[in-house]
Amino acid sequence: MSVSLDELISESKEKVILFNEDRLLRAFNFAARKHLGQVRQTGEPYISHVINVAYFLASWGVDQASIEAALLHDTPDMSKVAIEELREQFGDDVADLIDGVTRVGKVQLRGSHDSEFLENLRRMFVSMAQDIRVVLIRLADRLHNVATLEGVALSKQKRIALETLEVYAPLAERLGMGKLKGELEDLAFPYIFPEEYEWVMEVARPHFKYSEINVSDIIQKIRQQLVKQGVKAKVEGRPKRKYSLYKKLLRPEINRDINLIHDLMAVRVITTDTTSCYSALGIIHQYWKPAPNLGISDFIAQPKPNGYRSIHTKVFDNKGNIVEIQIRSEEMHQQAEYGAAAHFAYAQAKMSGASGEKLKKGLAFKIDDKLAWVKQLVSWQQMVSNSSESFHQFKLDALAHHIYVFSPNGDVYDLPENSTPVDFAFGVHSDLGQYIHTAMVNSRVVSLDTPLKSGDVVEIHKTKNKKKPNRGWLTFVKTAKARSEIKKLSAEK
Ligand code: MN
Repeated sequence: MSVSLDELISESKEKVILFNEDRLLRAFNFAARKHLGQVRQTGEPYISHVINVAYFLASWGVDQASIEAALLHDTPDMSKVAIEELREQFGDDVADLIDGVTRVGKVQLRGSHDSEFLENLRRMFVSMAQDIRVVLIRLADRLHNVATLEGVALSKQKRIALETLEVYAPLAERLGMGKLKGELEDLAFPYIFPEEYEWVMEVARPHFKYSEINVSDIIQKIRQQLVKQGVKAKVEGRPKRKYSLYKKLLRPEINRDINLIHDLMAVRVITTDTTSCYSALGIIHQYWKPAPNLGISDFIAQPKPNGYRSIHTKVFDNKGNIVEIQIRSEEMHQQAEYGAAAHFAYAQAKMSGASGEKLKKGLAFKIDDKLAWVKQLVSWQQMVSNSSESFHQFKLDALAHHIYVFSPNGDVYDLPENSTPVDFAFGVHSDLGQYIHTAMVNSRVVSLDTPLKSGDVVEIHKTKNKKKPNRGWLTFVKTAKARSEIKKLSAEK
């Protein structure tokens, strides 16, 4: 796939709040000059890659700076452009994003030694936690790279595909970006398990064809009934993703039998609000009986941990087939597809005076709710640490020896396990270590030797005047920095 500059501009006009075409063109022209003559392994000019990356970000409704940064993101590595030059030309916000993206980009997760892998994963978390837009740009970059893998050397293909499946897809899922997660997995799948991929395609083909015809019939009938009862909704079919189908086929109770899979083609009903979801459910159940034992899952009443909301019901259609129907409001739908991007959207959009239409679509993007984002990141890290599914256990144990804590304005600090507020203070600035009055963790006053946990928000209340650190702190501090500063400063006259 490949989009043009014009398509990028029209997508941005539609979805990006306060879109500035002149600024986009300035970034584009700069990138085009720097990438002049550079060609991708697919044979396309290099600039097509960055246009595509910027396009994904526009389609997610991310902000102007991210789109400019996406256009420029490969100029430091490919063309040796200094971040300082980008800063002069495009300002701090854009330059900081490119800097973050470049640093995360150097992180190679696969094919490195285990100790390196860990260090890299850790570094990736920290850079990503600084600004959610950095991770969104990296995800968009990865999406385009894996979509154009056929142009990459065979030896590199598998590494990129595996990294996509093991790191980037779970990250997208964690951010609630269901659409992106599915796309990344499906693109990586054939490179990692080529034979299994062929097999899935082969067994699924006739079933997909049948469900497609069957489902379009059901869609018609649901539409008629909803109109009759005055429920406004969009009704559409969605084919199951290949990789998710493959994983389901491997479940013991399915045992590779495609006849046991009922959601090859699901029906999706998208209503205007929550109440209409339940009205739609009632109407559907009047015409099609829910399948016993498979029944209903109400993720509106009980959302999944990543925030996913929807009602899933499995019903018998008129031919006795089991069909899955998913019911959700437009807002829930945006959240399920774009997750973090949609989730952070509303307040920022409102603040910037976005048009009512964009607000309704939930496409504008909120960038300054840092704390909410880093909390999500931490819970992802904990989830990864607790699962042995896609990572080797020992890697995770080592990962668990680090904690990530936050300042009240959302800056992230990476500390060794059992670090204390004193370690945090010296980590922020050695000066702050000389002004410690009291420490607050998650808005509660704590003693200075309290071990911190990932996700804690730590605040140091300062004394009026500078004072010498207490040598007694040496008994509990964990970081080398705090230790040496305390020794040095307490010895001073
Ligand atoms: Mn790139």
